[in-house]
Amino acid sequence: MNTQEKTEKYVMKTYNRYPVSFVKGEGCWLYDEEGKKYLDMLAGIAVCNLGHCHPKVSEAICKQAKTLIHTSNLFHIEPQAELARLICENSFGEKVFFCNSGAEANEGAIKLARRYGTEVDPEKFEIIAFENSFHGRTMASVSITGQGKYNQGFGPMLTGVKFAKFNDLDSVKEVVSEKTAAIIVEPVQGEGGVVPAKKEFLEGLREIADRVNALLIFDEVQTGVGRTGALFAYQNYGVEPDVMTLAKALGNGVPIGAIVAKGKAANVLKPGLHASTFGGNFLATRAGVEVIKEITKLGFLEEVKEKGRFLVEKLKELQREFPYLIEGVRGLGLMVGAVMKVECSQIAGKALERGLIINCTAGKVLRFTPPLVITKEEIEKGIEILRDILREL
Ligand SMILES: *Cc1c(COP(=O)(O)O)cnc(C)c1O
Repeated sequence: MNTQEKTEKYVMKTYNRYPVSFVKGEGCWLYDEEGKKYLDMLAGIAVCNLGHCHPKVSEAICKQAKTLIHTSNLFHIEPQAELARLICENSFGEKVFFCNSGAEANEGAIKLARRYGTEVDPEKFEIIAFENSFHGRTMASVSITGQGKYNQGFGPMLTGVKFAKFNDLDSVKEVVSEKTAAIIVEPVQGEGGVVPAKKEFLEGLREIADRVNALLIFDEVQTGVGRTGALFAYQNYGVEPDVMTLAKALGNGVPIGAIVAKGKAANVLKPGLHASTFGGNFLATRAGVEVIKEITKLGFLEEVKEKGRFLVEKLKELQREFPYLIEGVRGLGLMVGAVMKVECSQIAGKALERGLIINCTAGKVLRFTPPLVITKEEIEKGIEILRDILREL
């Protein structure tokens, strides 16, 4: 049996997979079993921000794997402490909790918010989330995900969750009260179609959260770790949350998640209140240390911004060429969406056949989240492939 047959027979079909299995990756390039090469402008869904098998990360993981992998959090863990220090010194954060995925980080952030709120008042447990948001697949994180397709048939959902409209402060004012424990928002909605928050919106959420003594939580699982041209997306906006969740790119492919908190949120979770067996183990946090070191190198994030502008410019050229196919281009840094006038999963499929990896999210948005190390030449190459496809539509 080959990989595809085995997958069909033995793996739960929770994904519709493309008929490709990659065997090797380097930088922005992936290679399949036949040796065909693909330009990766998705990076494993905004995960491999330093490119595939970044030498520094791979070397550090190999070395760590031969030294010590796991001891549990009953003991101190050097790379965990160092990664927490690097995150805090490069952000608003004061304390970090490590887990293993984005959903898990959001799950923990909700628990933190509930504990924080109910210590003030037993009735203060409500969470405000947004329509079209995406926060993960655990019960609590689907409960705060504002897209029906993710929670249908899994009810009842967590109670005490209210939804407001993204980029609409009035809709938040309608549901907020002294019972609100937290407001959770993605600075740029990812799965919802690459929709950046407006500056005034995040500023307004900060004010509203302060007024009712609620925590402001930014889900930076997708936007964090350099993706938007700042180490964390909130830094583009000048609005600080109380809590931030991270995952995807933090380990460049090694599973890791984190909750970052400050001030009144930093010391809510005490011994026994929350835990994770694997969370923050040697292997994952060693990868994280290398990732943060690389991304905070002088000039790296400036280049991400520059390349993000370049990609947007190139996509806008395509929009002028194909105004009947492309409605608009939006994004922040190297998190970019081309809003199509047609359903776009077909386009992503055709791109794959021609050796370009992109994906289609929210039905009509072609999403580009390439490795941050992509070059302008590689961006141009991707645009050329896309142009050929659009010509034939
Ligand atoms: C991917 C994602 C998650 C879920 O992360 P998992 O690691 O798949 O659990 C949560 N929030 C946002 C914004 C994401 O993009």
